[in-house]
Amino acid sequence: MKIKVATIFPEMFDVLDVGILGKAQQKGLLDVEVVNIRDYSTDKHKKTDDAPFGGGAGMVMTPQPLHATICAMDKERKAKRIYLSPRGKTLDQQTVERLAKEQELLLVCGSYEGIDERIIALDIDEEISVGDYVLTGGELPAMILINAVSRYVDGVLGSSESTSEESFSNGLLEYPQYTRPQEFEGLSVPEVLLGGNHKQIDDWRLAQSLEITRQRRPDLYEKYVENHPKPHDKEK
Ligand code: SAM
Repeated sequence: MKIKVATIFPEMFDVLDVGILGKAQQKGLLDVEVVNIRDYSTDKHKKTDDAPFGGGAGMVMTPQPLHATICAMDKERKAKRIYLSPRGKTLDQQTVERLAKEQELLLVCGSYEGIDERIIALDIDEEISVGDYVLTGGELPAMILINAVSRYVDGVLGSSESTSEESFSNGLLEYPQYTRPQEFEGLSVPEVLLGGNHKQIDDWRLAQSLEITRQRRPDLYEKYVENHPKPHDKEK
C-alpha cells in the first residue's frame, strides 16, 4: 500500500521506520512517502502560514503551498485524500478497514489554527479526526491512521498476530489475556484457560468480552446485542 503524507514536520515520521511498520516498509508491503509542504512554498522565506481574514488568534496555513504539494504528490488524482482534522468523522475500526482497501492514501497534516477552507473544497475527499480533543498538528493523527490501516495490509502482521480476534473485530472489546507464569504476586490465571477445553475457553472469552463491553462501552454492547439476538429472542 502506498501512503503519502504532506506535512511541515517530515522528521516526525521517522518513528514509522521502527517495529512492525519499519519491517513492512523494508519488505515493500508498505510505502510511506513524506513530503515537506514548505518545499512547495513560493514565498521567499518559504512561509506556509498567514493571519486569518476576519481576525482572531493564531495563524492559518495558506492555500498556495498546500495546493502545490497535493497536486505534485497526486498528479492523476488516484489517492484517497484525507485531511486530519478535529472537525472530521472520528476514526473507528470500520473506517480503518475501509481505508485499508484503498491503493493509495494522501494524508494532509494541518498546523497552527488549521488550513485554508478552500483547500478542503478543492483537494480533500474526506476529513478524519482521531478524537474529541485538539492537538497541535495533524502529524500524530496521521501516524495513528497509518498504524491502524497498515495492520490490515496483507502480510504486515506476522502469523502470530491477527486482526480477527481483538477489540472491535467482532463489535466487542477484547477478553482478558494471560501468559506465564501461572501465578504472579498472588494472582492466578483463571482455571478455565488451563484445561485445554476449547469450547469452554471460547465461551468464557465471549462472556468476558460481553461483560467488559457492557461495563465500559454500553453503546457497543447495545449494538452487539441488537445484531446478535439470542435464539429465544428471535422466536418472540
Ligand atoms: N483550529 C482548529 C479547530 O478548532 O478545529 C484546530 C487546529 S489544530 C491546533 C492544528 C491541526 O492539528 C489541525 O489542522 C489538524 O490537522 C490537527 N489536529 C488537531 N487535533 C486533531 C484531531 N483530534 N484529529 C485530527 N487532527 C487533529
